Amino acid sequence: MSYVFPPPPVVSVPVVGREQRFAVHRIYCVGRNYEEHAREMGFTGREPPFFFMKPADALVVVPPDEVVDVPYPPLTANYHHEIELVVAIGVGGKQIRAADAMRHVYGYAVGLDMTRRDLQSDMKKQGRPWCIGKAFDHSAPIGAITPAAGAGDITQAEIAVQVNGQDRQRSLISKLIWNIPETIEHLSAAWELQAGDLIYTGTPEGVAAVVSGDTMTGTITGLESIQVRVV
Ligand code: MN
Repeated sequence: MSYVFPPPPVVSVPVVGREQRFAVHRIYCVGRNYEEHAREMGFTGREPPFFFMKPADALVVVPPDEVVDVPYPPLTANYHHEIELVVAIGVGGKQIRAADAMRHVYGYAVGLDMTRRDLQSDMKKQGRPWCIGKAFDHSAPIGAITPAAGAGDITQAEIAVQVNGQDRQRSLISKLIWNIPETIEHLSAAWELQAGDLIYTGTPEGVAAVVSGDTMTGTITGLESIQVRVV
């Protein structure tokens, strides 16, 4: 087999305590999955989970104890952080029931669903797709994946992001509207999940803008932290 140009490299994320890396298939994201964030975006009540995607090559891998630069993206004047728990799928499947869902989870990571909020809001108003607001280059920083067995009880973890050392978002994974098994049940009803899929599970309240020179520190209890600087 040969190609008319060199194929892109396999996108992968390091795994804590292992030589082997986690090869990425797709990135799914859950919208409005914490009540207080749904409220700050102008919505109330429990609605069925909904999903959007980012391309796998939008990932920015942030190794432990490193600060990784991300470029301030074009076309926006309102570039937002959304700190999120990322679930890494190790065993694929479709129509997975919530009761069986945890067998499909490989591990967890800290992620940022970076958002061009002004573009996303424009697209919402016009009833157009969110891609330009969500699925742009470098829009998905992620830390090393911790295998589930080493992550402690993730359902009790705290999730937070600081910008330049100041708290911006701080909440608990237990406040997810749709928890991890329920999210997998809904997602796998719509798409057949594959080993290598990542699920950004949604962000708590406190989303806000960052500008060039800001450093974001994302943490989730039991997982590797990430540090990302906007340049
Ligand atoms: Mn998000």
